[in-house]
Amino acid sequence: MRHFPIFLALRDTRVVLSGGGDAALAKLRLLMKTEAELHVFSPLPAPEIEGWAAESRLTLHRRALRDGDLPGAALAYAADEDPERDARTATLARATGVLVNIVDNLDDSAFITPAIVDRDPVTVAIGTEGTAPVLARAIKAHLEEHLPAATGPLARIASGFRKVAEKLPHGRARRDFWRDWFFAAGPRAYAQGDTATEEALNHLLDTHLHRPTRAGFVSFVGSGPGDPDLLTLKARRLLDEADVVLYDRLAPQPILELARREATMIEVGKTGFGPSTPQETINALLVEHAATGAQIVRLKGGDPTLFARLDEEIDTLAAHDIGYEIVPGITAASAAVSAIGQSLTKRGRNASVRLMTAHDTEGFADHDWRTLAAPDQVAAIYMGKRAARFLQGRLLMHGAAPDTPVTLVANASRGDQAVLTSALATLSADLDDCPDGPALILYGLAPRDALPTLQSSGLTAVPSRQQEVS
Ligand code: SAH
Repeated sequence: MRHFPIFLALRDTRVVLSGGGDAALAKLRLLMKTEAELHVFSPLPAPEIEGWAAESRLTLHRRALRDGDLPGAALAYAADEDPERDARTATLARATGVLVNIVDNLDDSAFITPAIVDRDPVTVAIGTEGTAPVLARAIKAHLEEHLPAATGPLARIASGFRKVAEKLPHGRARRDFWRDWFFAAGPRAYAQGDTATEEALNHLLDTHLHRPTRAGFVSFVGSGPGDPDLLTLKARRLLDEADVVLYDRLAPQPILELARREATMIEVGKTGFGPSTPQETINALLVEHAATGAQIVRLKGGDPTLFARLDEEIDTLAAHDIGYEIVPGITAASAAVSAIGQSLTKRGRNASVRLMTAHDTEGFADHDWRTLAAPDQVAAIYMGKRAARFLQGRLLMHGAAPDTPVTLVANASRGDQAVLTSALATLSADLDDCPDGPALILYGLAPRDALPTLQSSGLTAVPSRQQEVS
């Protein structure tokens, strides 16, 4: 992040702008939304600027900016659209220690003015560090569409009511109240006029004051294979509302960032091999936080019902009478098979598919190898990387064809997704080239030939976007 976003208090503070043309007009239109003391320096100002000066919305100085004009200013704008004059303004500002923005000159500017969605007092600022003004505009248009016009007035009414709302206990109860206000009761009442809105707020507070306090609750949420776009809407909402989030070590950062900033984030490192948090500790954490009435998201990779030790956690909750729900997610097998353009089942080939692990608590897991070794069988093997030699041995021993295709997909759906094409006979040797990260073995499936990026055998990096060719 090259630019750090902040909101500057400008009431009664000098802001200096040099320029009188189009660029100056654009900046001034924004600046006049603030309570700053605006000083514009221009020997030849546009008529609009003269008009604003006449209305006392700014002070117009019909001359060029000089040395003594800058002390005491919070910000300066070099908006003459003339490199020499702008450089002069910038030099004067820097010499006085005033932050300067040079219109259309990102590199020499000390700050930039973001695109703004204005629902005063709610302001959304969008910055792309100058890289993509088109994108900023698109985001702005999107937000404009989705932030109801009532947002500003509702926020203003709420601000006068903050003290009264302190009758509600701090934390969840108060948050629920405000959420109800901004997204349900508030907009409804606002549509009926100002007085209705004030009354509705009092009424809503009353309802919330007499509500029984919420019991602690755990949502087991599948976070999908890694791409945040593959998260369900429900997972997003729950993350946004959670008081506590317990997540595994490999949970992707963009997904964790969907949690509220005030949420308690607890990493319960669990990987097949590396260091891990004992299951009892995780169970104890769930119970401990639920006892405080917390709404907990227990985030699990992929789908929480597959190889995720879900039942142990549910048993603990049931033993303590703690409510829970399960929110499914996209499992690694679905992401991996999509990455190679194949189906897990196919008419005439396989009418069933196995989701299996090569490991259980005792070590390598045993299976009905004979059935799996028959032609045209398909299995998605979780945690299979280290068990590859074992799998290979068992399957060959039970008569599987040595040329049975086997494909390993590492980091499915993530930016570093990689596909390794192999066959049963060469699997364990080929896995020497296996990339880091979680990997799923698709037994009985090869990448679809039509996928040009997958035609060569061996390790092929396949960015997830390229799947669009399939
Ligand atoms: N509940 C998870 C599975 C947890 S077991 C799910 O439904 O996907 C962990 C194993 O899942 C890893 O060892 C790996 O085999 C597989 N896995 C998880 N995420 C993956 C990903 N993005 N790409 C490939 N395999 C993945």
